[in-house]
Amino acid sequence: MSFGDFDLLAGLEEKVPARLAAAVALMPLVDHHVHGCFTRTLTRAEFEQAINEASPDPIPEFMTPFDSQLGFAIRRWCAPLLGLEPHAGADDYWAARSALQPEELNGLLLGRAGVEHWIVDTGVSPSGICTPEIMAELSGTGSSEILRLELLAETVAQEKDSPASFASDFRDALAGAVPAVVGLKTIAAYRCGFDIDWADPSARKVEQAFAAWRTASPGASRLQDPVITSFIVHAAAAYGLPIQFHVGFGDRDMDLHRSNPVLLLGLLRQAGMQNAPVMLLHCYPYHREAGYLSQAFNNVYFDVGLSLNYVGARSPEIVGESFELAPFAKQLYSSDAVGPPELHLLGSILWRRALVQVLGSWVQRGEWSESDAIRVAEMTAYGNARRVYGI
Ligand SMILES: [Zn+2]
Repeated sequence: MSFGDFDLLAGLEEKVPARLAAAVALMPLVDHHVHGCFTRTLTRAEFEQAINEASPDPIPEFMTPFDSQLGFAIRRWCAPLLGLEPHAGADDYWAARSALQPEELNGLLLGRAGVEHWIVDTGVSPSGICTPEIMAELSGTGSSEILRLELLAETVAQEKDSPASFASDFRDALAGAVPAVVGLKTIAAYRCGFDIDWADPSARKVEQAFAAWRTASPGASRLQDPVITSFIVHAAAAYGLPIQFHVGFGDRDMDLHRSNPVLLLGLLRQAGMQNAPVMLLHCYPYHREAGYLSQAFNNVYFDVGLSLNYVGARSPEIVGESFELAPFAKQLYSSDAVGPPELHLLGSILWRRALVQVLGSWVQRGEWSESDAIRVAEMTAYGNARRVYGI
């Protein structure tokens, strides 16, 4: 099955149902959690750093991130688009890649992801990352923006710096920002973890917490206080817009074990949260917990983005696990790509290949009909995201 001019389902032709394979290869995607791609030239060291999610340290001399599931996937799927053989060596790949200007490379790779709409997180990113508008331009598609709550709270704290009026200052700033975005995001996992008191704090508690935050680190803006974190999430929920939560896999800055989404139960059970779709992002290795929560709460959704790029050839196992407890109306596609456009493309390739293999095996065993498999693939690829984000 070819997708544009490259063989997306190479190696699977004989092994998967043909109608399902054709549908999954060609269906548009809504990438509901993604960042911009680089518009500047990278050194090889910068590129290798950008294909390692968890460590901020320089890559040691005895290893290269090309020797990883992601590195192998880049050499398998991106090399042919640069005129190389599949599995071309890392040095050959780097030479071919370096011969292209960033715009050429982005043009070559982004459009082939088959994404109809990028929902872009414009929060803190590496330098030289393009805007949602440029992403849309580069790939000839649409884009929307997500607002990070912590960033907004930090901006308000810096500008107004008033314990007494912080709560109302934040609410005013949120009201001003909401019309320009399709959703909000919290990185509580990175700042205080999910094992906090998620009660909606009183005005007095917010004031005290704000004063303590600002005196503990005068001039510094990083928000880590659990009371204020709970406050901004509850304030956001009042809008009924999707609220994305970073969950699981990320860089080592975060206490991974405190980002298990079952620690959000105390928040999810509250009446004030019920009208806001809660979007659990990436989730690995807690995607099974996320699947449970998406069955337990009508407003909880999840994806297995980011992890697929990093587990590469093991993607079918992760996608299979994501289709255990979760209702099919509760799953979305994301790449969580940031930086190299290889990541924006691979998210799509690996997800489509995994989906065809997982759903296809159930069709072949007679447990699912092929029409149902196609319908579920379409819900996950774009249907659920269009509904939840209203795009
Ligand atoms: Zn992410």
